[in-house]
Amino acid sequence: MTHTLIDGKKTAEELLIEIENKVDRLKQQNITPGLSVVLVGNDKASETYVRSKVEMSKRLGIHSVHREMSADVSEEELLQEIDNLNKDGAIHGILVQLPLPSHINTEKVLNAIDYKKDVDGFHTLNAGALSKGLEATIPCTPLGCIILLKRYIGDLSGKHAVVIGRSNIVGKPVGQLLLKNNCTVTYAHSRTKDLPAVCRQADIIVAAIGKPEFVNAEFVKDGAIVIDVGINAVENTDNSQRKRKLVGDVAFNEVCNKTSAITPVPGGVGPMTIACLMYNCLYCACLINGVEFDMADNLRA
Ligand code: NAD
Repeated sequence: MTHTLIDGKKTAEELLIEIENKVDRLKQQNITPGLSVVLVGNDKASETYVRSKVEMSKRLGIHSVHREMSADVSEEELLQEIDNLNKDGAIHGILVQLPLPSHINTEKVLNAIDYKKDVDGFHTLNAGALSKGLEATIPCTPLGCIILLKRYIGDLSGKHAVVIGRSNIVGKPVGQLLLKNNCTVTYAHSRTKDLPAVCRQADIIVAAIGKPEFVNAEFVKDGAIVIDVGINAVENTDNSQRKRKLVGDVAFNEVCNKTSAITPVPGGVGPMTIACLMYNCLYCACLINGVEFDMADNLRA
């Protein structure tokens, strides 16, 4: 079967151009969206993510502030920093890079962020609003998945979506968004019995597991749509110079010819996540300033 390659890189670039234009328009009203990224400790992967978020903000004309705190910072100090950012009128979005060191209560920290500045959408108020189908800041990766589906598939009504994974960051919110878009949603997870048989019922599979190339051809019915959220660094067995390469949770080469549409890794959901962070920063700046967030319907969740 010929399949459509769902191009997250291209879609993210188009979305970023749209956001940049809207940031420009906000600036004409004397509002400059501001993002603060807080990094605790010196985890290399987190440092890379934070750097790319700060650079992307700068590219779009978003004011960005980068706060670094040592790995042994106390919970009180971190909460104080968040309180300062909550009160800072130049900051519309606060992101605390996860994971946090184990002596810090992550849930307490996430809920200390003003929910209107919660660009990650991890605050309990935003998670609750999303689950009730109310206006909310939506976690970036799930938002990216839905924008890709709307753009490449269109109307999702009546489709049976199987979401593999039930994390608060990806699985749960992506399922809620699919429900909002009138899909019939099944959540599958590590305790699901006969996962391949459950997945074979799906018109849409969203894989958010964290296991390299776990979803194989046995999971996929002919013509299904596959969204691969996974990002896994594995050893590179071909003869190229690189020792490691990135693969998704889906065995792309084995699965792609059974699908009608599929996201690659890299170049699928990944680039959409950072674009959606910028989207959320713009959203929060509009919310806080009482300005209409005029994003087109197919660029909304
Ligand atoms: P997580 O570890 O919090 O959750 C994984 C989920 O997978 C769990 O709910 C678990 O029940 C389920 N699971 C684990 N083993 C399973 C099995 N054998 N069968 C069925 N279900 C199983 O992970 P997460 O934060 O939700 O991330 C999932 C993946 O998405 C990871 O690869 C992560 O790197 C990736 N991710 C990508 C982006 C992006 O920007 N593309 C963003 C966030 C996460």
